[in-house]
Parts: sequence; C-alpha cells; structure tokens
Amino acid sequence: MKSYPLFINGKWQDAEQYDFVYNPHDQGAIARVPLANKEEMHLAISAAVHAQKKFSSMPANKRSDILMNAAILLQEQRETAARLVSIEAGKPIKDARKEIARTVMTYTLSAEEARRLPGEFINMDAVPGGEGKTGYVKRQAIGTVGAITPFNFPFNLVAHKIGPALAAGNSVVLKPAEQTPLSAYYIADIFYKAGLPDGVLNVVSGPGSSLGKQLAEDPRVQAISFTGSTDTGKRLESSAIGKKLQMELGSNAAVIVGDDADIERIASSLVRGAFGFQGQVCISVQRIYAHRKIYKSLLSEMRRKTEEIGIGSPLDEANDLSSLITPEAADRVLSWVEEAVDHGAKAITDIKREGAIIHPVILTNTTPEMKVNAEEVFGPVVTVEPFDEWEEAVIGVNHSRYGLQAGIFTNNLHEAFEAADQIETGGVHINDVPTLRLDHFPYGGMKDSGSGREGVKYAVEFLTKQKLISFQSP
Ligand code: ADP
Repeated sequence: MKSYPLFINGKWQDAEQYDFVYNPHDQGAIARVPLANKEEMHLAISAAVHAQKKFSSMPANKRSDILMNAAILLQEQRETAARLVSIEAGKPIKDARKEIARTVMTYTLSAEEARRLPGEFINMDAVPGGEGKTGYVKRQAIGTVGAITPFNFPFNLVAHKIGPALAAGNSVVLKPAEQTPLSAYYIADIFYKAGLPDGVLNVVSGPGSSLGKQLAEDPRVQAISFTGSTDTGKRLESSAIGKKLQMELGSNAAVIVGDDADIERIASSLVRGAFGFQGQVCISVQRIYAHRKIYKSLLSEMRRKTEEIGIGSPLDEANDLSSLITPEAADRVLSWVEEAVDHGAKAITDIKREGAIIHPVILTNTTPEMKVNAEEVFGPVVTVEPFDEWEEAVIGVNHSRYGLQAGIFTNNLHEAFEAADQIETGGVHINDVPTLRLDHFPYGGMKDSGSGREGVKYAVEFLTKQKLISFQSP
C-alpha cells in the first residue's frame, strides 16, 4: 500500500505517525498518510514563512509560469487524478473528471491573474494638499496563508486557495480534509515538478481540531482561507483572532420555479443539482419552491428523472450517485429524512440505504423547521413545496440562516429580477441551478454561509494588501 510522506520545505518527509485513508465506497484502506503532530505543523509554518520573502519578490511572470506549468502537468495526468478523486472521495468518475478539468482552469486563471495584479493611479491633486504629488496603489502579498479544505472537491477547492495565493506571491500551508489528503499530496508533487521554490507550498495532513486550530492560531500566519461546515467555521473564527479570514461555509440552497418554466427541461438540471456527488456540495439544490400550477408535474418529472440515475461504484462509468463520505454521514442523512417523515413529510421516492449509499430522496409536505429544510443536509435529499405568489416564494428562500446561492426558473423577467434583488444570498442564477460555480466569478455567502469571496480575481484581492506610494519632486 502506498504511503504518502509530509510535504514540508520542498521535501517529502517521513512523519512520526501515520493513519489509513479509506475508500468511502467499500471501506477498504487505500493508502497511509501522515497524522502530523504539533511540531511537524510548526516546521511547515516556519518553512512557509522563510520561503515567502524570496517568493514575493520573484517576478510575476515567473510565478505565472509555475502556475501554468502546474495546470499543464495536471491536464496531462487528468485521468490518474480523476481516478484518485473517485477512489478517495467516492465521487462518480464522470464528476471527478469534471472536477479535474475545472481545476486545470482554476490554475490557468491564477497564472493569468499573476500577470495582472491590479493597481490604481491616484489623482492626488483632486483634494487640496495633493498638488504637485503623484500617487499610486499597488497590491502586495500578505505573507503566509493557512488553507483548510473539506473533502468534497479535493482538487478544486484546494486550487481555489493555492492558485490565488501563489499568484499574489504568498506562501501556503495546506491542511486538507482528513478523508481526502491524497489529492493534496498529489497536487504538491505537481507543484514541486512545476518548479515551485522549496517551502512555498507545504502540505500537512491530520486532524482539523488540533492542526487546523494550530494553523489558525499561529501568529506567523496572516490569513486563513477556509472551506467547510458552518460549525467548524465558527470555531475557527474564535481561533484566528486578528487574521484576515475567508470563510466559505455551508448552505441549504433554494430554487424558485415559476408557473411558466419548461418542466421537462429543468427537471433534469434540478435532479442533477440535488443529487450530483450525492448532494455533498455546499450549493446542492436542497429546497425547491414550485408554483402551484406546475408543482405536481414538476414532482412527477423529477421522480421520473431520478429513476434514471445510475447508483453504485464511483468508478463505474454508468453511475451518477455513490456512497456518502462515511457510514456515519449516511446514518445522519437517513435520520433527518426519517425525522421529517415521522413529522408528516411525504417521500415520493423509495427511502433506501445500501452500505453508505442513500438512494435519492424527494420529499414534499415538509415544514421550514424540519432539518431537511433548516440545516445543510449534505446528502441526496431535496424538498419540493408549492407557492402561489412570488413574494411567498422569496420569503421561503430567505427563511434560512444560510445564504450562499439561489436559482430562479421563469421567463417572467420582472419577477426574476425583483426576486434576485430580494434573495439574501451571495449569488443568484436566473434560469440556472444554484449549483452553478464558475471559477472566475465571485463566489461566497451571506448570513451563516460565510464571508469573503472566492473566484480567482477576488481571492487575489483578498490575499493581497494595498500599499500606497506617493511621490513629489524633492
Ligand atoms: P465537512 O463537514 O465539509 O467535512 P469540516 O468543517 O468538518 O467540513 O472540515 C473542513 C476542514 O476543517 C477539514 O480540513 C477539517 O480537518 C478542518 N477542521 C476541523 N475542525 C477544525 C478546527 N477546529 N479548526 C480548524 N480546522 C478544522
């Protein structure tokens, strides 16, 4: 069985302690990875701090070349990388391939962004006192960035941290999810081969509660970029006092379907949005508000499309849905569904579990208080409820402590734009699912869904500080 050492200061280093990584689908051990300790994390941070000074003065075009080299190497190895994601995260291989293609794009965009770090000319004499002076603002790296990532997009969410951080001249200590550290070590190897100087990227795997906390608390780390659950995010906020924080947290994304929507066309998007990667996506479609006129036909069309979903091994090309990340996650999801049904919800699909697979569940007759609506399910469960007036649907969408993205389906532009303005989320997609994330647009939440925006350009802004330089003739 393959063992992955720690990646610190550009070297593969044996750790004191190791743990196994398991395949979520059959629970077999697939590799050994470091269970790093405090000292090893301390070393990684020291290496990052030391390397950063030199790295930030590397010409932007060289940093860009390294990022582009990494994108090219990943593109060359795309099938191996996709299989790795599929095996360690239980992601259906078709989706794993899409994740790798997106990741290549994220690093490509980061390479481009490195070449155009933004600046600003200040018209100094616009206010009294500025006469005869010239001024400009440039962006400089903030230093060392702690990146803490979840299991669900082990390549792409890591890329959203590493790409912009390196583009801006920062160094990084990455603490990947316990369930999916292999992808993180894989990308470290790619960067090593792409010519990244030693110490600029360090990967340290192990428990978040100790290592993630240590990274957040270390005063030498200037910023934390985190993607994960709202609960962990809140805990992290209290550790990372005084640091810049980028928090991409959970949600229970909602969709409004108007009475004029083309049901047949949108039902497959909704089903994909709800059940893709077993619903383990922060912007999975979780709540649907459908106009009463089309509510019944939407339900039956969604049920029909759901029956076509291939279920089983993630490596089987025919499958769209596989095991949840752990059996405990499957227990939790099932208990939430059962709780809803016990309180009057009606399932229009069979509730069925095989190992850590939960077959897709469509629920109706739910209430906003049920966990399947109020909390982030992170499983293949979607609720569908009718509405009569748009206002009512918008209230439904906003009846949530989360606010990441939302979707609206209608040809009625007036209602669509009005609702888009009123919906309390970081992004609204008209005639698209909330699951849409493209790597160049600003992505992030309101309310308990977090703060700050990712999307390469926006992350670069976050991971730089502004420096004003003014000049007048001596
Ligand atoms: P998810 O539920 O999506 O797996 P988590 O929020 O549990 O997300 O974990 C996301 C990341 O946060 C993981 O890398 C995990 O190890 C890390 N983590 C867990 N607890 C803490 C903590 N107290 N401080 C910092 N990071 C943590």
